Amino acid sequence: MEKLCVHTMTTKPWSLDDCARHYPAAGVEGITVWRQYLEGRDPLSAGAMLRDAGLDIVALCRGGFFPAKNATGLQAAIDDNLRAIEMAEALGAPQIVLVCGAVPGQPLEESRRQITEGIAAILPVARQANIRLAIEPLHPMYADDRSAINTMAQAHAICDALGSPAHLGIAVDVYHVWWDETLEAQIKLAGERNRLFAFHVCDWKTPTTDLLNDRGLMGEGCIPIRKIKSWVNAAGFNGFNEVEIFSNKYWSMDQNEYLQRITSAYQQHVL
Ligand code: ZN
Repeated sequence: MEKLCVHTMTTKPWSLDDCARHYPAAGVEGITVWRQYLEGRDPLSAGAMLRDAGLDIVALCRGGFFPAKNATGLQAAIDDNLRAIEMAEALGAPQIVLVCGAVPGQPLEESRRQITEGIAAILPVARQANIRLAIEPLHPMYADDRSAINTMAQAHAICDALGSPAHLGIAVDVYHVWWDETLEAQIKLAGERNRLFAFHVCDWKTPTTDLLNDRGLMGEGCIPIRKIKSWVNAAGFNGFNEVEIFSNKYWSMDQNEYLQRITSAYQQHVL
């Protein structure tokens, strides 16, 4: 179970307290906290509660969504990301995952320009707070409204355009990038440039019946997870393997039983 991290969204029906109680008992060592789990609570004490439970806080999810139709929207996005940095600092999360955003109908080039500028605007604050920003390329099926960054190469391009700052890197989520014929080379490059910040696992089911909430448990689909993990490790990444599954099917089952299935799938198909 070494290096197993679970995203709070994976066990969506559970509160943060439920996660703190059940994750360590199942052998989970790390947790990535989604922001909605901190609504109405003090991130400082939430962080202490998770550490007291024996969990490493791996990341805060998520920042991003930079593109907008007008200046007010662009500024609102930057303000929201600044709040995320404050929240991560208080929580004790070393990094924030960025789902970069897109505006339906707006050219992707324009969205990418806005994303680059948005990241540039928050980067000095992140550096000051010692919080790393991890750009997560999203599968192209989300290019219309969730992210105009759909490949590792596009994520690299933003890091390059901003001068390769040490606090900016990439989150590799197998669900989004498994199909990319250049994936091995892109992961290798991320290692060479010290920007390989996170590794997320789940599986791609055939057929996928919901674009958002029908991800599979590792081993249930067609993603060569172990192969991709070997590339990530060869590139020097030795952080947590984060299980991030959005699934209406799994959210409707008993979450303790589901967590058992996660840990067993982790041992069989990730390690
Ligand atoms: Zn992810």
